[in-house]
Amino acid sequence: MQLANRLTKVFSNLRLREMRWIWIIWTTKFFLVALSFFLIEEIVWFSVFATTIFALATILSWHEYQRALRTFETKVSVGRMESIVTNLEDAVIAYSSDFKILIFNAAAERFFGLSKNQVIGQTMGPERAGEKGYQTLTQTLFPSLAPVVVGRSEPNQYPQIVDISFESPNREFRVSTDKIADKSGRILGFVKVIRDRTREIELVKSKSEFVSVAAHQLRTPLTAINWTLEGLRDNPGLSEEDKTLAKNGMQATANLLKTVNDLLDTAEIEGGRFGYEYKEVELVKFIEDILANAQVVAKEYGLQVFFDKGGLKESKVFADPTKLGIALSNLIDNAMKYNSKNGSVTVRLKAVPPKPFVQISVQDTGVGIPPADMGKIFAKFYRASNARKVHADGSGLGLYITKNIITQHGGEIWVESTLGRGTTFFLTLPTDPSLVPRAESATLT
Ligand code: ADP
Repeated sequence: MQLANRLTKVFSNLRLREMRWIWIIWTTKFFLVALSFFLIEEIVWFSVFATTIFALATILSWHEYQRALRTFETKVSVGRMESIVTNLEDAVIAYSSDFKILIFNAAAERFFGLSKNQVIGQTMGPERAGEKGYQTLTQTLFPSLAPVVVGRSEPNQYPQIVDISFESPNREFRVSTDKIADKSGRILGFVKVIRDRTREIELVKSKSEFVSVAAHQLRTPLTAINWTLEGLRDNPGLSEEDKTLAKNGMQATANLLKTVNDLLDTAEIEGGRFGYEYKEVELVKFIEDILANAQVVAKEYGLQVFFDKGGLKESKVFADPTKLGIALSNLIDNAMKYNSKNGSVTVRLKAVPPKPFVQISVQDTGVGIPPADMGKIFAKFYRASNARKVHADGSGLGLYITKNIITQHGGEIWVESTLGRGTTFFLTLPTDPSLVPRAESATLT
């Protein structure tokens, strides 16, 4: 009670005028405390705010720095790409899926006699082949419209490679087409890289023409020498010793004639002038005839020759009989030449359903091919060392010619071999005439 009385007294005293300094002091005190609380709180908030802003700004500027760097690098690489594409010797044409031209480099301008401005942004279609100045470009974009087209890659396989020949003026293009796809594999367009091979092909043609003329010139006197030696061999007045000399001379002339003929065939193949004439060929009878001719040599080598018809009574293909005869004879001759004593040669024919092809194989029991040489034997002039030991003479052109002939018939050829055990050559030929390429073009190999 006493405390209450006292407090009442204090409060009534505080109302006195003389007490105003106490009021002022306390009010100031409260104000300063409140201000300091406010300031402390503001500073804390401000620092949190400032730190957040600073952190965000740092993250954003780092991100922006990286993006700017990437943009710069992209610009540099696009610039570099552009200058590479512009200055390429080969023509480069890129177009969208709806054939709108996006890139047309300087070489393309030269090749097609059209400027960038005339082409970029234009949508091309087969109908433009008739438009003045656009014919060659349209035929290159749509090769089926071109005069002579030879496919060099598997169908539906990218990059697609085709050789296109144009007449008046004569132009030889190798066109490689690839897809442009995004990361998800969606096709955005295509790019064509076109190499002008006109000059190269002209050189090959003039070289092959020279070889052709030389081989033709050699053939005539060689045939005459052969006849002369044949006459000598059959001359009853000649001693046995001289007859053997004439026979050896005939053998050497025959080898030389074979080499000359191989050179002639190679030159014509490379110049695109082998001249295929296709017609229906029945393979059972065809192979029987070739094997009948081979019997003489087979006897000389002491070899047995078999023909396994694979149950086929007949098998028709669309082929050039002379050229196919050269190819099969080369394989059968090799099978006899590189065979072992008392060995055998087996020719097999079989259908390969469901494919529209027939397969022929020529198997021998001979020296085989060293594994290291397997990939090279179809190359021009290549001879494996073991074959050179067995037969010193040989042009190394037979398989090159054979492979070209089979390819030109729309077929394939490959080999399997075990050294010292024997070799089998396999080849396929289409039974569907539409699979036989009609056009022959020069080869640069
Ligand atoms: P050539 O027989 O005139 O040497 P080819 O082009 O016909 O030329 O053959 C090339 C090479 O392939 C031969 O030299 C030989 O090394 C190898 N070859 C071809 N056929 C056979 C075979 N049946 N057995 C073993 N090697 C072979």
